[in-house]
Formats: sequence, C-alpha cells, structure tokens
Amino acid sequence: MSAKRAALAGVVKDLRAHIGHLRDEGVQALETSARPRAKVPAASKPLPPRATAAAPGQSAITPTAPIVPITPSSSPPPATTAAMQQLAKEVAACRICVLHAKRTHTVPGQGSPRPQVMFVGEAPGADEDAQGLAFVGRSGQLLTQMIIAMGFTREQVFIANICKCRPPDNRQPLPEEMTACLPFLRRQIALLHPALIVALGATAVKGLLNSTQGITKLRGTWCDFEGIPVMPTYHPAYLLRNPPAKHEAWADLQAVLKRLGRAAPAWTQTRKGA
Ligand code: SF4
Repeated sequence: MSAKRAALAGVVKDLRAHIGHLRDEGVQALETSARPRAKVPAASKPLPPRATAAAPGQSAITPTAPIVPITPSSSPPPATTAAMQQLAKEVAACRICVLHAKRTHTVPGQGSPRPQVMFVGEAPGADEDAQGLAFVGRSGQLLTQMIIAMGFTREQVFIANICKCRPPDNRQPLPEEMTACLPFLRRQIALLHPALIVALGATAVKGLLNSTQGITKLRGTWCDFEGIPVMPTYHPAYLLRNPPAKHEAWADLQAVLKRLGRAAPAWTQTRKGA
C-alpha cells in the first residue's frame, strides 16, 4: 500500500471511530453541508437508518414492498455490552419487589446492543419465565412476525419489559412493582439509546409515559420518553384476542418506519385469521 493510501486509510479509520463515539453519545445526525437546511418539525423528522434485513419465511403480516438490503451496523462498544451484562446480573440478583419470590428466571430483555428500535412490553409470562427470554410465547411469535414485517430481525432490535419478573398468574404488575423495576429499564434505555421506542400495551405506556390515557386513545400518537420518540401501540397478546386490531397496530408500525426514513411495506394477510 502506498504512503498516500495508508494515510487515507488512517483518516477513514479515525473518522469511523469518531462517528461511533458520537453515536454512543446519542448524536443521531451530522450536518454534511454548510448550506442552511429547512427545519423539519421534531415530530416528523425522519431518523437515519442503521440496518435493514430481509424477512425470512412467510409471516402473518407480510411486507409486499421490496426490503432494502441489510447494511451491517458497526460493532457495539465493549463498554455497552459489558454494562448490559452487568445490568442483567443485577436483575438476576434483585429482590426489591415481591415478584422475585415466585420467578423461575429473571427476564432482563435481549437483542441488539445498538438497536434502532426498542420494543417495551409489560412483564414476562410463563414461557418467558421458563426461558429467561422476553416475548418467546404466542405473543412473542406475533411480535416476531411484526418485527420481520418491518424489515428487521429480532436480533436487530431490543425487546424488554417494564417488569423483569413474572407476576403470578400473569396478572398485571402492580404500580409499586412497576416503580421498583423501572430503574432497570431506564438504565437499559440510557445504555442502548435506541432511535425509537415502541410501547406495547397500556402497562408499557403507563410505565414509560406515566399516562393514564387508554391505549386505544393513545396508540398511533407520537409521545416522548426523555427525548426519545415513543410510539404506543397494542400489545401482541391483545392482537391475538382481537385480530382486526392488527390493522391499527400495523399503521402504528408504519409510522415508526416512516419516522426512521425506511420504506413502509403495505399490509397483507397471508393466513386466515392472522
Ligand atoms: S420485578 Fe424488577 S424490581 Fe421486582 S424483583 Fe424482579 S427485577 Fe427486582
């Protein structure tokens, strides 16, 4: 390699490292021109894409538009991965609220350490409690289909809950349990700093936004969690009980894709009752 090319490679390497650092600090976009730009309202400003993926296999919610080829995101900084592992250890040892008593496993959440989208649900159910993984039961299967329909894989997003332990008999977490567990979620959001959060269901909305508004009224409306846009939508468990509501949920996810500056595929149903 000539000295000129070696110097250029050095500059590119430094620039990549600097951009990675800025992203770690929460910078979403950089000005590339001295020309003034028209101001875009925060609520409608598209965010830069990080990664896309082809949808594997057929799903109940299938995109009809072609999916943009995947662009691998850069590796996460080791500090973030280590901090997420440390947080999971703290969750595993937590006995702050009564939910610790009957849990089999804690469920801190899983996914990309650099997600563009973070999904937040309510609390683990029986399958999640058994496996220590978020959204792996029937609701999880539907959430996976929704994620794939958006052009992501589960590994490219982060999936978590308001509470990290299963409430007995799958009841809703009590306010004091949500309050006790919320600091873990807040730390996760601070570490991951996703571009967007999708709040799945009323409990996620209550925990993240402290809103008493019903999910039926709030869904589809952009909200804010400490500067991060939040899209409330229905919980997959509700969608399993009320399949017609999938159209509204898909409209919400299309709004998410639009905000991310990604192509929003059209809704199709490939299975009866899906
Ligand atoms: S639900 Fe959260 S606060 Fe309660 S014991 Fe589990 S990890 Fe701790």
